Amino acid sequence: MRNIILCGAPGCGKGTQSEFIVEKYGLTHLSTGDIMRAEVKSGSELGKLIFSYTGVGHLVPDDVTIRLLEQHLDSLPKDTKGVIFDGFPRTLAQAKELESLMDRRPDDSTAVLIDINVPEDEIIRRLIERGKTSGRADDNLETIKERLEVYHDQTRPVDAYYDSLGKYARINGLGTIPEIFSRICEVLDKLY
Ligand code: ADP
Repeated sequence: MRNIILCGAPGCGKGTQSEFIVEKYGLTHLSTGDIMRAEVKSGSELGKLIFSYTGVGHLVPDDVTIRLLEQHLDSLPKDTKGVIFDGFPRTLAQAKELESLMDRRPDDSTAVLIDINVPEDEIIRRLIERGKTSGRADDNLETIKERLEVYHDQTRPVDAYYDSLGKYARINGLGTIPEIFSRICEVLDKLY
C-alpha cells in the first residue's frame, strides 16, 4: 500500500478532502478521530478511557492510539491500494512509530504528508460553526483552544520530521472545497 498522510489543524478540512480523494484515487480513509469516536460510542472500558482525553481536547496516549491504528490496518483487505491517514500521526513519537511500522511491512510505505494550511482565526470560526450541528463534545470554544494548543505544541513537529524525510507538501487550505482539492490533486497526480 502506498499511503498518504493528511495533516493540519483541527477543522482544516482533512475529513472533507478525504472524501474527494477516496473517490478520485480509490484510497481508503482511516481517521483516528472517527475510530476513537466509534470506540467511545460503543461504551467499552477503552471508550471511557479515550473519552477522558478527547472530551477535554487532549491527545489519547500514543500506545493506545498506535494499537488501535495497527488493528485497523491489519483488518484492511489485501488489495487495498493505499490509505489516507487522517489525524495520525499527531505526535513525533507516533510519526516515528508509523515509519518503523511501514519498514516492517514490506509492501507498505508513506508517500507524502500533505499539510493543509489554514490561519487560526478561520479555524476557530469553522469549528464553532461545525459545533452547531456536529454534536461533537469537543467543538466548543474552550476545547477548541486546547486542541489548537496541542496542535502547535505536539503535532507541528511532525511536519518538520516528514520534511526531513523529503516527504512533505504544504498547501493553502483557504478557498473553495474544489479549489483546495485541486491543489491536493497536483501533489497526488505525481504519485498515483
Ligand atoms: P480534529 O482534527 O477536529 O481535532 P479528530 O476527529 O481528528 O478531530 O480527533 C478528535 C480527538 O480524537 C482529538 O482531539 C484527540 O483527542 C483524539 N485523537 C485523534 N487522533 C489522535 C491521535 N493520532 N493521537 C491521539 N489522539 C487522537
